[in-house]
Amino acid sequence: MDAAFGWTGERRALIGQGTWMIEQDPEASAVAALQLGIDSGMTIIDTAEMYGNGRAEQVVGKAIKQRREKAFLVSKVLPSNASYDGTRRACERSLRHLGVDHLDLYLLHWPGSHPIAETMRGLESLVNEGMTRFIGVSNFDTDELGPVLRALKNERLACNQVLYHLGDRGIERRLIPFCRRHEIAVMGYSPFGHRSFPRAESKGGKVLGEIASRTGKTVRQVALQFLTRDGCWAIPKSGNREHVRENAGALNAPLTEEDAGMVDKAFPAPDRDVPLGII
Ligand code: NAP
Repeated sequence: MDAAFGWTGERRALIGQGTWMIEQDPEASAVAALQLGIDSGMTIIDTAEMYGNGRAEQVVGKAIKQRREKAFLVSKVLPSNASYDGTRRACERSLRHLGVDHLDLYLLHWPGSHPIAETMRGLESLVNEGMTRFIGVSNFDTDELGPVLRALKNERLACNQVLYHLGDRGIERRLIPFCRRHEIAVMGYSPFGHRSFPRAESKGGKVLGEIASRTGKTVRQVALQFLTRDGCWAIPKSGNREHVRENAGALNAPLTEEDAGMVDKAFPAPDRDVPLGII
């Protein structure tokens, strides 16, 4: 289940790995979980300077020591650091924490107060110097992407990372079609709702359970397969090897259209435009 990552020419499995709060897991278990994930095909690793003030990046650095070539490393600059010089300094810090000489993708974490043209100039300079291969943004709604596209002079926007889970499908109305038109990869974060996955006894939870038991999947695998059904990436975080094994299992045997239709009905997308959700 790999797919073209926007216009970049990269192909990657549609399920990757998040790392928000992974520094709070026992380090050996977090490192082993990330390594198992990479070895199972979940090669996109998403981190950020914000996560544990660089400690999540350090955990990722340990996990990828022998696996740098396989991994597609994503990190993010905090909006408060995203001046031209600040963006460059933040990227250097992230590279140090990760112990690598370049990132694959570097994102502005959310829209901030530094002029977008200045931040984009900073990001473009990092591509120019080989410190990241691609650049992108996160938490940018459709109307905020236009100014980003206009600000970029030498590079193309590769990715927009946004909230996407069964309880928040707002991006399906305008944002996904916009990104598709511009060949921007959409990476959905918090695919399990951060810590609010549908409970088994809820109406929607029962639908997930029915599909899961009939198809030999787990409810989380059904959720991941639904969220990636149209080529959006999902980046579940786990510091637990059993959970990672389960999440990677969703890369096999995609949902049938009929089962995807059942999930769609149980967790409907909004019927009008809504502001972009954010965690
Ligand atoms: P999430 O991936 O929706 O959920 C993570 C939670 O689910 C953790 O408590 C994890 O616990 C648990 N979990 C994972 N797999 C499981 C499984 N198979 N069975 C049971 N529990 C499981 O939440 P998230 O961390 O908020 O989002 C994912 C990633 O998206 C983040 O880590 C981060 O990289 C990114 N993100 C980006 C932004 C942004 O603004 N750009 C915002 C939020 C998140 P265990 O560790 O114990 O498995």
